[in-house]
Amino acid sequence: MGVIISVVGAGIIGLTTALTLADRGHAVTVHDPDPVSGATYFAGGMLAPTAEVVYKQDPLFPLMKASASYYPDLIALTSKYSDKPTGYRTDGTLVVARDVADKTHLAELREYQEQHGMEVETLTTRQARKYESALSPAIAGAVRIAGDHQVQPRLFTQALIDACHNAGVTFTHEKIDDIDRLEADQVVVANGLGARDLVSYLDLRPVYGDVLQLRVPEHQYPLLDHVVRGFVEDRPVYLIPREDRTLTIGATTREDGRAEAQAQGVFQLLRDAIEIAPAIEECDFLEAAAGARPGTPDDLPYLGRIDERTVVSTGYFRHGILLAGLGARCGAEVVEKQAPSIDLSACDPRRHE
Ligand SMILES: Cc1cc2nc3c(=O)[nH]c(=O)nc-3n(C[C@H](O)[C@H](O)[C@H](O)COP(=O)(O)OP(=O)(O)OC[C@H]3O[C@@H](n4cnc5c(N)ncnc54)[C@H](O)[C@@H]3O)c2cc1C
Repeated sequence: MGVIISVVGAGIIGLTTALTLADRGHAVTVHDPDPVSGATYFAGGMLAPTAEVVYKQDPLFPLMKASASYYPDLIALTSKYSDKPTGYRTDGTLVVARDVADKTHLAELREYQEQHGMEVETLTTRQARKYESALSPAIAGAVRIAGDHQVQPRLFTQALIDACHNAGVTFTHEKIDDIDRLEADQVVVANGLGARDLVSYLDLRPVYGDVLQLRVPEHQYPLLDHVVRGFVEDRPVYLIPREDRTLTIGATTREDGRAEAQAQGVFQLLRDAIEIAPAIEECDFLEAAAGARPGTPDDLPYLGRIDERTVVSTGYFRHGILLAGLGARCGAEVVEKQAPSIDLSACDPRRHE
């Protein structure tokens, strides 16, 4: 028998969790005054368990890897209930180094990735330019990561909302101030940064990122076929080509509390992207925006049960699109009081209480 479940928040985590629970036969309501208005709206959408590794974040790697492996099922679940596109692409990712120092950085990172069992293929710059002819002839090094993929978050979430409706999920456009007042058997707190107002001991902070949207002119399309990440004088930048001819360029990382896109960030992203692929100069400029990633002190999410009725699923920081595969599957398992598919002890929501 299904139970009555309230999911607070309609970002990627709330939507994928709601859909998973509805598919398992539960009666699900999602509460959000403005669905997909948080970090998800601004995200690049890279599903990059390898390219996104950061030194000394070892507890995160198995979660990222598991989540990437759950993604095909998540896309299939979405397609079961909706015909809308998700922007899911499995062309793989190239990572390029702009100069010799960046090439050393890339080689060190590759060594670290391989030590952790990740697959990375070193390319000559000539091979890299065969994959992507728009790459600058001046790049100094490159690797290919076939297992790092992408979705288009703004498309994927529209598909998820449609899928949720078709799977019987109800939406209420209300802000929840007190979860005790929700009339449900189970509550999932999945409202990103807003979760700190509902569960006081969650140590969440906004980590802002500037991000740009461009459109590739018809005569240049497709400018790129793969996600291209680059290091330019040690600064990371990524270029994500989409099938609708848009190109996402991201993202800065700052904790200055400024919610608008910053001129310095916009300048830096454009300059570094053009260093990697000079033809970007000819693209239409559509948008500069900034989003707030829900960060935690140890960069790990909060995912687990906090009492008989309440499950927390937030704090996905810079990997929430990727980790939605895990958040949805394991979140649903925790709601159903089953053992999760992967050990979640590192994600205990009470660990910073
Ligand atoms: C610039 C940028 C680039 C990124 N790129 C990537 C990437 O390439 N790959 C990746 O994996 N991750 C990426 N991320 C991280 C990812 O976007 C986040 O980790 C993820 O979107 C978090 O999703 P969420 O559903 O937990 O929260 P959010 O998307 O923030 O959604 C929270 C929702 O809760 C609602 N809400 C808030 N308070 C309440 C309340 N009291 N009651 C009801 N509803 C409420 C809000 O309206 C919002 O819709 C990026 C983030 C940024 C900012």
